[in-house]
Amino acid sequence: MAEVTILLGAPGAGKGTASERLIKRLGYEHVATGDMLREALKEGTALGLKAEQYMKRGELVPDEVIIQLVEERLDKGGRRTQFLFDGFPRTLAQAELLQKAVEKRRGKVAQVFLLDAPREVLIQRLTGRRICRSCGANFHVTNMPPKKPGICDSCGGELYHRPDDTETTIANRLDVYTTQTQPLISHYEGQGVLVRVDSSRQVDGLVAEIVGAIERRGARQGAKPVGDCGR
Ligand code: AMP
Repeated sequence: MAEVTILLGAPGAGKGTASERLIKRLGYEHVATGDMLREALKEGTALGLKAEQYMKRGELVPDEVIIQLVEERLDKGGRRTQFLFDGFPRTLAQAELLQKAVEKRRGKVAQVFLLDAPREVLIQRLTGRRICRSCGANFHVTNMPPKKPGICDSCGGELYHRPDDTETTIANRLDVYTTQTQPLISHYEGQGVLVRVDSSRQVDGLVAEIVGAIERRGARQGAKPVGDCGR
């Protein structure tokens, strides 16, 4: 059984930051295709090198590469059956392939949260974003600064500015989102699983709203309420 919750939203909408909190709170298995690709690139695998050219330009990596990564990850989940997807799917083809992959594992796409924020908020967040090289934690030079500049509060790792968080690449990534990913909104709305959340506010409120919606859905289905799993 694989039950999938998806965070959908433009680059800079806050999917990564919300995911960090949600997985701690819910104990879900986090699947972030962007992180997986950056990891493959760091390790210098053939897949990472293939993906690099697309990532540098802010374009999408081909669907067949991504779905293979995702299928492997679904099978590596071990006993975990709840997955939180962040940055996947990003095209209708990926959504259809995901549907087949979860059905094959007797699961379903449970809820899709659309993190919505105006374009100027997205750009401000992306240009100031800093990420920990060791643990992947997200910071922002003004909105969420680390205690010591350039150093991760959680693990002491070095913070870096993603090479695709430059103004030209950001503009391209936002255009790619509009043309290729936005059609997923009506796709999931049609399936009755889309929940819109305002992600221009502080992450605490955003996370509380998402957890509340997950709990209400669980209650409707007769499941135990979710709680802090201590991770
Ligand atoms: P992210 O960290 O989610 O912003 O992703 C960074 C980059 O990785 C994107 O701009 C794409 O080049 C690539 N990428 C991540 N996820 C996907 C996906 N689901 N489909 C295609 N390309 C992806």
